[in-house]
Amino acid sequence: MISVIIPSYNEEKIEENISEVAAVLEKNGILYEIIIIDDGSDRNIKYDNILKKEKNIRIIYLSRNFGKESALCAGLDNAAGDCAVCMDADLQHPPELIPQMYSLYKKCGYDIVEGAKSDLGKRNAGYAFLSGIFYRLIKILTGKDINRNSDFRLIGKKPLSSIREMKECNLFFREITDWVGFSRVRIYFDTQERTGGTSKWTPKKLFSLAVSAITLYTSFPLYIPLITSIIFLFTALFSGIFNIISEHHSYTPLLFFLSSVLLLCTGITAIYTEKIYREVLRRPRYIIKEIKGNAEK
Ligand code: UDP
Ligand code: MG
Repeated sequence: MISVIIPSYNEEKIEENISEVAAVLEKNGILYEIIIIDDGSDRNIKYDNILKKEKNIRIIYLSRNFGKESALCAGLDNAAGDCAVCMDADLQHPPELIPQMYSLYKKCGYDIVEGAKSDLGKRNAGYAFLSGIFYRLIKILTGKDINRNSDFRLIGKKPLSSIREMKECNLFFREITDWVGFSRVRIYFDTQERTGGTSKWTPKKLFSLAVSAITLYTSFPLYIPLITSIIFLFTALFSGIFNIISEHHSYTPLLFFLSSVLLLCTGITAIYTEKIYREVLRRPRYIIKEIKGNAEK
């Protein structure tokens, strides 16, 4: 059985979208359960019709908005299927691809099937610019190109149980599913238009996700002070020699530059310290308020 995991935050068209997902799975004769994780929606989102219509659906209500990454974890932890497919609630990830993903897992034996974007879809200019910087930073710091990766993924039985064993509360879904390893294959899809409503990310949420992702993928920024100090040591040495053999020069620009580098380094250390602080608290990634539905485990 496949567990289809759908995080949902204030998605008004969720019932129609779920029906579409269920129809595709039924048409292809795939045994499935659908798990919707309502990530603390503050609008009155109704699931009554879908609960009546679909036999194998479960809705996990989180106690507040924990963010998409935590909602996905809630789904993975509660999935009863022997593999899980994670997808967005707005149908930007085409459900028609699920049967193909499933057959790559079942017949070809791949443990993870990654949905990758063949185009980046319609995005506003500001979002495209900032996400461009984010992906370039990841590429420079880690050498990994994750620009076209998405959360639309099938996770097989083995990686699923490995992911469930991970206990950290700061996580980036794509990073943990990359980190576990196992055999994997990519399939490409065209990003669809959102079926309704607007993107659920606020600039603040996106910024914090980007910081999380970068600091999880790499600890390179922590070494910037060390690298800078070596460069500065040599600069100081050469400028000292230069000062001896030439006339006096002003140090003001150099002082400003030095201060900004020092502050940047302190800032980077603070980000990692905050992550460590969150981990030692050992709080759960999410809190479940209520579970409704016929497929109740
Ligand atoms: N989402 C969520 N919690 C949040 C933000 C988003 O569960 O705090 C869900 C949202 O309902 C959708 C998915 O994550 O199913 C992707 O969100 P969205 O479509 O807004 O992101 P975009 O496609 O614009 O990147
Ligand atoms: Mg979307």
